[in-house]
Amino acid sequence: MTMNEHPVARRLWQAVAALLALVSLLACMATPARAETAAEKYERLREELEAQNQQLASIEKDLKSAKNTRSALQQQQNILKEQINTLVAAINEANLAIQEKQAEVDQQQAQIDERWDEFQMQMQAMQVMHDGGAVAMLSSAQSLYELLTFSDTLQQISEKQNQVLADMQAQKAELEARKAELEEQRANLESAQAELQAKQDQLSGNIQQLDSTISKAEADKQAQQDVVDATQAAYDQAEKEYEEWIRQNSSTGSGHISDSGWMWPLPGQGRITTYYGGNNGFQSGHGAIDVAAPKGTPIVAALSGVASTQSMHWTYGNMVLIDSGDGVVTIYAHMDSQAVSNGQAVVQGQTIGYVGNTGRSSGYHLHFEVRINNVKQNPLNYVSYS
Ligand SMILES: [Zn+2]
Repeated sequence: MTMNEHPVARRLWQAVAALLALVSLLACMATPARAETAAEKYERLREELEAQNQQLASIEKDLKSAKNTRSALQQQQNILKEQINTLVAAINEANLAIQEKQAEVDQQQAQIDERWDEFQMQMQAMQVMHDGGAVAMLSSAQSLYELLTFSDTLQQISEKQNQVLADMQAQKAELEARKAELEEQRANLESAQAELQAKQDQLSGNIQQLDSTISKAEADKQAQQDVVDATQAAYDQAEKEYEEWIRQNSSTGSGHISDSGWMWPLPGQGRITTYYGGNNGFQSGHGAIDVAAPKGTPIVAALSGVASTQSMHWTYGNMVLIDSGDGVVTIYAHMDSQAVSNGQAVVQGQTIGYVGNTGRSSGYHLHFEVRINNVKQNPLNYVSYS
């Protein structure tokens, strides 16, 4: 398997291709006639961050899978190593047994040689006696019977010696056969060892390949993490800029409301779905109240003031901020559309937009926020449905 065919490498390549496609798409989007708004910037950064985090997760998943595979292979290799060690011990044992058997064979041969020498010496002595002392023997032989007996004795000695030698040869042959058996066993063990060794070598190769895949994936992960960190930093910066936008469009002051009081921002709609400090599914510590209402329900200004607008903010969608002076600000978010323009003066009760489901919103509702000197307040301390 080459690196290009490896699943991790292939997925990484797909991720790079996806990123290139995203970059070219962004390049097309990056040539608008007008400058990118803060809201568009948040939305773009949010999408980029999401895509980059997904890519990072995918790399991490592949990395984890490669590491799991590596650990499984390592386990197999450990088992093989143990098996090879067992075989090597058996081979060593066989070698010792063969050596022992060889020593026995050698000893047997030495005994045979000794016996043979002895036999030869005896025969020679007989021969000398027979040849050199033929006359003496004949004269000393008392009778033909004695002479024949002597001859028989010679014959018997020879036969007995032959038998002993034959027995010894048979024993030696048996020892050699046993030694050959042991050698065959050893050859079998050695071929088993060679087979296991080949498997182990292959595993080592696979593990090495995985190691290089893992280290490449780790480098890719680090590179991707750097990209995510950079986008996260840009996103954090954009959020700061957004807060700065609110600050720039908000007055500061006594926090005193100069007109006759507050108006409920959704006439005829009083169902609060998320309270101040509650959890709306996206965040806990909700800094506003959410009031459910059908799409298109008119939203009115709770107080008179000057409107600032943001369109398609990544969280708030289409929104209107009304600065009523003295540090008193109301924010109306997730609108389907705004009914006022940026910088427009509005009076209390004036329709400023329509209920929608834009931004991070799950269902048609108005997100109504109150800030005094840019500090979020519980709106129900100021407004009530009646
Ligand atoms: Zn809300």
